[in-house]
Amino acid sequence: MNDTLFGKIIRREIPATIVYEDDEVLGFKDIAPQAPVHVLFIPKAVHVPTLNDLKTDQAALVGRLVLAAAEYARTEGFAENGYRVVMNCREDAGQTVYHIHLHLLAGATLGRFGAPGG
Ligand code: 5GP
Repeated sequence: MNDTLFGKIIRREIPATIVYEDDEVLGFKDIAPQAPVHVLFIPKAVHVPTLNDLKTDQAALVGRLVLAAAEYARTEGFAENGYRVVMNCREDAGQTVYHIHLHLLAGATLGRFGAPGG
């Protein structure tokens, strides 16, 4: 059972602005956007808390998240300008929801990243 916030969004128990869906992936707008476009892509049927928990036979799932983000970028018309995808793993990266998710950030020239505290 996926008792995380994102599990509840998958089951439509709490609302979200869903902008993408295929057989394996759900995409919805982040409630606190860090860029003009900020969409979260999550696996619908498989619950993996963090990247540390990803098994070899689940590797394709991450590919599906990336492909979903790229497809969304194409359909929304910002693929050529570019975008960033990010997956946070555990505390030091600021992961707050323990169901793996891919952040898609776009719509502006994004600042650099990765500095401690940045
Ligand atoms: P993390 O920090 O775990 O990498 O990403 C979790 C993301 O979920 C954050 O960017 C946060 O803004 C977003 N978030 C938290 N609560 C909600 C919510 O209730 N609805 C939506 N759509 N996003 C949420």
